[in-house]
Amino acid sequence: MNSPLPQKTIELRKPRAKLAPLPPGACHRFHAIVKPVGAQCNLDCAYCYYLHKEEMLGQARQPRMADEMLEEHIRQYIEAQTGDEVVFSWQGGEPTILGVDFFRKVVALQERHRKPGQRIENDLQTNGTLLDAEWATFLKQHDFLVGLSCDGPQDLHDRYRLTKGGATTHAKVVAAARLLQQHDVPFSVLCVVNRDNAQQPLEVYRFLTRELGARRLQFISCVEPKSFASVAPQHQSPAAQPLVGSRAARPGTPDSVVTDWSVAPEDWGHFLSAVWDDWYANDYGKVHIDLFENVVAQSLGMPAQRCITAEFCGKSLAIEHSGEVFSCDHYVYPEYRLGNIADTHWSEMAYTERQQGFGFAKRDTLPRDCRECPHLKLCWGECPKNRLVRTSSGEPGLNYLCPGLKHFYSHIQRDMPRILQQVSRYLERIQR
Ligand code: SF4
Ligand code: SF4
Repeated sequence: MNSPLPQKTIELRKPRAKLAPLPPGACHRFHAIVKPVGAQCNLDCAYCYYLHKEEMLGQARQPRMADEMLEEHIRQYIEAQTGDEVVFSWQGGEPTILGVDFFRKVVALQERHRKPGQRIENDLQTNGTLLDAEWATFLKQHDFLVGLSCDGPQDLHDRYRLTKGGATTHAKVVAAARLLQQHDVPFSVLCVVNRDNAQQPLEVYRFLTRELGARRLQFISCVEPKSFASVAPQHQSPAAQPLVGSRAARPGTPDSVVTDWSVAPEDWGHFLSAVWDDWYANDYGKVHIDLFENVVAQSLGMPAQRCITAEFCGKSLAIEHSGEVFSCDHYVYPEYRLGNIADTHWSEMAYTERQQGFGFAKRDTLPRDCRECPHLKLCWGECPKNRLVRTSSGEPGLNYLCPGLKHFYSHIQRDMPRILQQVSRYLERIQR
């Protein structure tokens, strides 16, 4: 069990960048998810993996990234990267609580610190309930890509995504989507696939695409160990991991390792397969589903676009409002704290051996079942935070979702040769 991080008055020492020389053509690049309001949110979604951080990190009641810390983050984050593009991802909690003026400051500071020729991109993950015309105008003007959370039709969405007072939110999310469409703001719907909506893949997919009109989708599996609020990933006892396929390796049983709302492993596979079939039959080339496009890209030998299916991870870190930096957004636990930008430059934390070790461990700790799996190069054992079960031979560290992942990767093999042929032809044409 971890204890809250000590709270102290933060003195900004304004550290300078330390960048190691690189071979010609290489550049320093990483990505960070910013939590400018910590875990603070106007909703109280049952499955949120972040709300409990208020208590764990000993956050103030209304955490805010102070103006000086914001500028320090923007300055260092830009200094620490030498590619032609720097991506800022604003998340929470609910970042729109800060109001549009905070983000006006953000874009002004980015402009102040931007290197010549460098492109700055912003994305904002939101529950949509606080968006209004002023927000939409700002987001359009500054080319923000919006991630809008919606779990499907009203009855499925409102099962878990409620306000702190227990009010439903679906109508507000639909209104937010309409607002973004009216202002021509690009948005991607982020759909958390939990134990309930996983049972109705086509209802979810068709609502999001045909009724809400989303053209970009991300499906995120809801997998939460029961101990997630206090025990960091990879700090559970390996001996306590249940065998894959056992009762305890499924949600809804008294001895389960995961919360009741977590998606069942097999349901995750069935959900993805059913959505894949509908997408391939009707929406291929029109609706972008990052997970599916990623499978196609990896099947062509291209690098993974998503960390969870990459061989290594560790290039996507997280920063709290207080300047505290962690190895990953899903590893915001004291055990994975790398430091604070108040006294240690981003460049000294993002490229450390410790952080590289975190990323390499994704591959280096795979159990034999994964190393010998025919889907290894598409899956790479998925996200390490979900490695909660033992293989049938008893080896710990297998991904909880493995049965579903195997089902999905086998299911799509039928369509892959045709898709790969089409994509290869297209790539040849545009490269000519
Ligand atoms: S731990 Fe999981 S979410 Fe974090 S960077 Fe690695 S694969 Fe991605
Ligand atoms: S499908 Fe299962 S066994 Fe195969 S790489 Fe993924 S998690 Fe490992």
